Amino acid sequence: MDRTFVMVKPDGVQRGLVGEIVSRFEAKGLKLVGAKLERLPEERVVEQYREHKEKPFFPGLKAYIMSGPCFLMAWEGKGAAAVVRMMVGATNPAEAAPGSIRGDFALDIGRNVIHASDSPESAARELGIHFAPGELIGYSRIDEPVLYE
Ligand code: UDP
Ligand code: MG
Repeated sequence: MDRTFVMVKPDGVQRGLVGEIVSRFEAKGLKLVGAKLERLPEERVVEQYREHKEKPFFPGLKAYIMSGPCFLMAWEGKGAAAVVRMMVGATNPAEAAPGSIRGDFALDIGRNVIHASDSPESAARELGIHFAPGELIGYSRIDEPVLYE
């Protein structure tokens, strides 16, 4: 089954949005297989966002992500990475669809509440940055037989 990496950023944690965000993924039918609250060290922030290292917004992005604790999660389910990206919405919350997390809870591209891996390949890479294998827990959810065809 597919897994993806999701992270409530410091603004989301400080605004008390962790529970709401976890609830949305749970209600969708995705399975939580890893979670922790953490202040990210610089090396992991740089590794996570390595594709943006030379962009003008990178210093501000790094400071934002390191400004407080993040809530890191691994979610499992059919097509998890694509499904979660749809639920997260466009990078710029001003353009994110209502009903998406960024569309419902944010206004500014520099404070967009949540990160989610953009592909299965990114998901594998990002889960490897942030979780040790033993921190991801496989188990069955009782509703699985009715969630999938
Ligand atoms: N970002 C920013 N300004 C920009 C573009 C991106 O502050 O002009 C930040 C924003 O927090 C975004 C993150 O950098 O979520 C990563 O950018 P990406 O384009 O990968 O967006 P995402 O995958 O998060 O939707
Ligand atoms: Mg991205």
